[in-house]
Amino acid sequence: MRVLVADDSPTSRRVLQLHIEKMGHEVIPATDGDEALKLFLDQRPDLVLLDVVMPGRSGFDIAREMRNERPDDWIPIIFLSGNVKDQDVADGIDAGGDDYLTKPANPVVLRAKMLAMQRISNMRHQLAEANRQLVHQSNHDSLTQLANRRALDDYLAKQWAAAVRHGSRPLSLVMLDVDYFKDYNDHYGHQAGDECLAAISQVLRKNLLRVEDMAARFGGEEFMIVLPETPLEGAVKVGERLRREVRDLGISHRYSRLDYKFVTVSVGVASTIPRASLKLKQLIKMADHALYDAKNAGRDCVCSAMLHTPDDIEG
Ligand code: GH3
Ligand code: MG
Ligand code: MG
Repeated sequence: MRVLVADDSPTSRRVLQLHIEKMGHEVIPATDGDEALKLFLDQRPDLVLLDVVMPGRSGFDIAREMRNERPDDWIPIIFLSGNVKDQDVADGIDAGGDDYLTKPANPVVLRAKMLAMQRISNMRHQLAEANRQLVHQSNHDSLTQLANRRALDDYLAKQWAAAVRHGSRPLSLVMLDVDYFKDYNDHYGHQAGDECLAAISQVLRKNLLRVEDMAARFGGEEFMIVLPETPLEGAVKVGERLRREVRDLGISHRYSRLDYKFVTVSVGVASTIPRASLKLKQLIKMADHALYDAKNAGRDCVCSAMLHTPDDIEG
């Protein structure tokens, strides 16, 4: 651990430093509260030992400020003080501290308390990591590692609302569907089908250039790309590039009913300038219709459509 030790008495600071270093930890020394606060923010120690009585601001004040500055980041704080009364302990905890030590610190007690704090700190890090993984899992599809339907829906709703607020910003969708994929699964097996979907996903991920672009698994063997601030022509280029790159993967598909006996995708592109008189689901429907057109046009191709008014998607 990196331990911030704030104490205005050089002797007491040095003694603490010796004890702590002997336990194998690193010490960041501070001679008063303000220096402690600055080092706390700059260096993010793993533990803070804070003298209560110091010239200038008290240890309690400094602890309160440390908690205010880093509200989401719990770093254990142990107070040090000469004569500790019950009320001092209560005030210290109230100020954001976690424990209290009587000076001069007994090395056995110091070691035990540091160990206790380290245990809690480790547990917190494990929980934070587990939580990070859960958030990732709830937003990603496990087979392809692309955004899942739920993350896509959230993102689309946000992008739609932002574009409506802005008033003149285009939003485009690219929908892809694997051609004759049922035949692929039936002949090569489900496992091979899964591997094929994973390979296609990699093409999608690799080809998204802007941070705002999102590739998601829409369902089964369908994918959707969200392209904010991208007009129809740009989105068609993206769709065309993806179609070509999937084709160029050269994944054998002897049972494709196309002449080209490799895995291909059909692509539907739809674009609009989102505004209050339109609905997001109309744009999605339009992309779906364009995809259907691409299937009817012979597959392994891109069809596109522009949504101007709700009437555009009637029928
Ligand atoms: P089309 O060219 O018209 O799109 O024909 P298709 O066979 O691809 O379309 P259809 O919708 O009839 O079949 C989709 C197939 O995709 C059904 C299923 O076998 C396969 N599929 C869907 N999801 C998965 C998946 O997660 N893994 C695997 N291996 N196959 C899937
Ligand atoms: Mg399909
Ligand atoms: Mg298909």
